[in-house]
Amino acid sequence: MKKVVTVIKGDGIGPEIVTETLKVMDVIGVQYGHEFKYQEIAAGGAGIDACGKALPEESMEKCLDCDSVLLGAVGGPKWDQVDPKNRPEAALLGIRSGMGLYANLRPAKLFPQLAEASPLKPSIVAQGIDFLVVRELIGGVYFGNRYTREIGGQLVATDEMTYGELEVERIARVAFDTARKRRSKVTSIDKANVLDSSRLWRKVCERVAKDYPDVEFENMLVDNTAMQIVKCPSQFDVVVTENMFGDILSDEASMITGSIGMIPSSSLGKGTRGMYEPIHGSAPDIAGQNLANPIGTILSGAMMLKYSFDMDEEAAAIEAAVNAVLDDGYRTGDMMSEGMKRVSCSEMGDLIAAKLKKA
Ligand code: NAD
Repeated sequence: MKKVVTVIKGDGIGPEIVTETLKVMDVIGVQYGHEFKYQEIAAGGAGIDACGKALPEESMEKCLDCDSVLLGAVGGPKWDQVDPKNRPEAALLGIRSGMGLYANLRPAKLFPQLAEASPLKPSIVAQGIDFLVVRELIGGVYFGNRYTREIGGQLVATDEMTYGELEVERIARVAFDTARKRRSKVTSIDKANVLDSSRLWRKVCERVAKDYPDVEFENMLVDNTAMQIVKCPSQFDVVVTENMFGDILSDEASMITGSIGMIPSSSLGKGTRGMYEPIHGSAPDIAGQNLANPIGTILSGAMMLKYSFDMDEEAAAIEAAVNAVLDDGYRTGDMMSEGMKRVSCSEMGDLIAAKLKKA
């Protein structure tokens, strides 16, 4: 197969972790007879430095004219003072809405080799952590009207949270379809005891659930979910929720798995094209030092192969290679523990590529 991948290395550690991911994808290409063509674009801080725009028009065009997008990370203190509308992170919102990527899938999976890194009690970790957060990505309060007015001599700020039935239904279907490929359970998260938008969310999810009688379904309030994720994470399989709740819960979910550097994510819309990126940011504190953990980005590449290119076997090969390298005791600094072998970002990429070649 021939696939065109738009590559955004981005800022901070972005170039380092993406370079290792392309190294691994190239080995897959050779081994399975695929041709991956990479078209690199500037976005985020790199876009601002190149032409003054976080998301230059030609970069957006290349995101729309490819088979999928791979992103490292954007942002950093260098661009903290730029106009909020043109901050590096604005490039992400622009790409997500420009590509119509309404579903964000983030696995919260604990690698057994890293169990010690989880902040949870060993008795909870032993039950296993393996669930997927499906977050609505281009609606809700992050995309609603917002304004600040002066009322009665003080400033009053408002952010509107709006959801329509169709928006909820399409993300609910992503969750139910994905659950069918996992352990067939969906938990829908809302705040239906307070919010109108949540009451509509719940009504639509319950309606969609009727089309999936083989999938177990439950509703859960967001505050209870925040507690249940640390109390008994093994109860979850697929968690579906709106944009802001998903933003917060998926960070909590990643924290309990031990290392922020290990977790991939995918953002999907209609059709097969998506954007794939690790969940962490540009880690300016370790940028340019060859210290970053590239595994979250490498696993994002594996998700791209699976969800966008239908290359299940190739994706599984990457996951197996990552597992094998961890089994051998290799760790980047962020997940280092006693008795393990510390390696750099590029060494970790080399080790995973070498495992693939051997396999
Ligand atoms: P961060 O995720 O960049 O870093 C948090 C901590 O985790 C840091 O100590 C960092 O060194 C460490 N870390 C993160 N990824 C790592 C990796 N792969 N290997 C080893 N250690 C890793 O979060 P932050 O410091 O809050 O944000 C830094 C910048 O990134 C900000 O400008 C923020 O806006 C941006 N950001 C971008 C994205 C994105 O591009 N999707 C996401 C979140 C934050």
